[in-house]
Amino acid sequence: MSKKTFSITCPNCSTVQDVELYEVVDICTEPDKKEEIMCNKFNRTSCIDCGEDFRIDLPILYKDERHGIFIHWVPKTPDISIENIIEEFDEIVSKIESKRDLLNIRLVFTRVELVELIYMIESQINHRVIEYIKYSIFERNQEKLNPVTHKLLLNVEDSTEDELCFVVQNIKTQELGEILRYGRSAYHSLVELFNEDPEEFILMFPGPYICANYFINDES
Ligand SMILES: [Zn+2]
Repeated sequence: MSKKTFSITCPNCSTVQDVELYEVVDICTEPDKKEEIMCNKFNRTSCIDCGEDFRIDLPILYKDERHGIFIHWVPKTPDISIENIIEEFDEIVSKIESKRDLLNIRLVFTRVELVELIYMIESQINHRVIEYIKYSIFERNQEKLNPVTHKLLLNVEDSTEDELCFVVQNIKTQELGEILRYGRSAYHSLVELFNEDPEEFILMFPGPYICANYFINDES
């Protein structure tokens, strides 16, 4: 059962209606759901009264067995901290015995993080290496990039054979700003390092929440 009916209140006129929403997305059986997530059409509804079109965020599991990955999207709400969500999640994950499976479980808090991760998985880009690169970009630009207020997003679509394209995002307003480029060859060298000895990367980003900002902000 991947769909369930929820009683949803319209954010505009407060009309309550029953809406069928997905809790589990298995893209091997329902590939069109991926497109919906990418275009922000997923788990949306229109109000039966005022016509307002809105998205309903609830925790979902995104399964991609072809790539052997399970992504949990737990929307962050103002009353629950990231630390709390991670703590709760760690408890669930601690019951999984296979260490191999653990590396394939991811946790994200926003749709943007989910989309970024889906792109990375499909382009076979190493997620931990990318977060390490973001970390080093923050380290090198301490004067102008603040990891408390800004995030870096990898834009796979605008990246080229020679360069990876990162976009600076304001965490609060979600606005996208400056674009930073990073040499693809430097990325490949890091991937080689990772393949020789993943230990250091895994120690930095043990998962399931792999995020440069979280690492930096936790460190300071
Ligand atoms: Zn309404």
